[in-house]
Amino acid sequence: MTLDCVTQLGDGPDDRTRLESWLDQLAVALDPDRLFRPADLRLAVNLGTYQWQRDLADVLRADPFLRPRVIERDGWRDRGRPPAQFTFAPSGLIEHHTACGVAVGHDPATCTAGIIAGVNGTPGPISQLHGTWTPPGVPWRGNNADPRIIITAAGRANHAGDGLYPWGAPAGNGSALGIEWCGPPAVGEWPPIVVKLRQHVTAAILRARRWDAGRVVTHHSYAEPRRPGAKIDPSGPWSRQPTLPRLTPWSVATWRTTITPLLDQEDDMTPEQATQLAAIHAAVTGTATERHADIMHRLGQLPGRQLWARAFRRLAEVIDRDPAT
Ligand SMILES: [Zn+2]
Ligand SMILES: [Zn+2]
Repeated sequence: MTLDCVTQLGDGPDDRTRLESWLDQLAVALDPDRLFRPADLRLAVNLGTYQWQRDLADVLRADPFLRPRVIERDGWRDRGRPPAQFTFAPSGLIEHHTACGVAVGHDPATCTAGIIAGVNGTPGPISQLHGTWTPPGVPWRGNNADPRIIITAAGRANHAGDGLYPWGAPAGNGSALGIEWCGPPAVGEWPPIVVKLRQHVTAAILRARRWDAGRVVTHHSYAEPRRPGAKIDPSGPWSRQPTLPRLTPWSVATWRTTITPLLDQEDDMTPEQATQLAAIHAAVTGTATERHADIMHRLGQLPGRQLWARAFRRLAEVIDRDPAT
């Protein structure tokens, strides 16, 4: 039994069956007569986890704006740091730039090659996704923005380094997807359509994983608490910060405000589902806790499928963080 199965739920009748089955298992696990220990659940959530992100192409192509701009690089489904040596359980994503500095003549294929092979002694893949300004093989001419999102890997990649995820995940490459994007601009600002594509890529992943905009960090904002000044990416002027100097980091808060409107929150949760979820949450964490109140707040504010998934993700976090177990 893993909590992750709940975060993968979709809309279909089979999903309802899977959810009910999972709830039955959890109820059994929570029965004190069966000597349930929270540590068992914690181990079930984390032990030996390596979550290949092989649905990335489907996730991106679900957005009509992205669909014609998605490129799958050969071998991406099986590319990643070795599962025998590393864990991979992404719970958010990091926005980067490659530091290629897109000057006239730049062909993004050179950046894709580096992301796959590794750079400066760091083994590849460097990220799961690579965003471009032009199609591979088409050099930048200063005004021919026609971006693509290239899927380079489904497994763990080397992009994070040390830092702090505001949602509490362990630092490092095992906890986040990485989006490398050609940049910053050599001159002028990030082309609006490039920024728009990045927004849609980010939102598509958040929707599919049932994460809110708080699960997005810039490399700068992630690294800054542990390594002040070490990372600036992504940097440079873009539509919402048009006067930003070329090597000054984007505001992660401003970035998130552009993502939130793209997140779909149209599903509905039934009162029965809400009651059931609240009861399970109370059983795991104890009643009247701050976390319980937060879950209940979310029940009132957010509808449906996403809410289920987020609530259970939070449940997993609560269990995972309990030092008493
Ligand atoms: Zn970076
Ligand atoms: Zn580049």
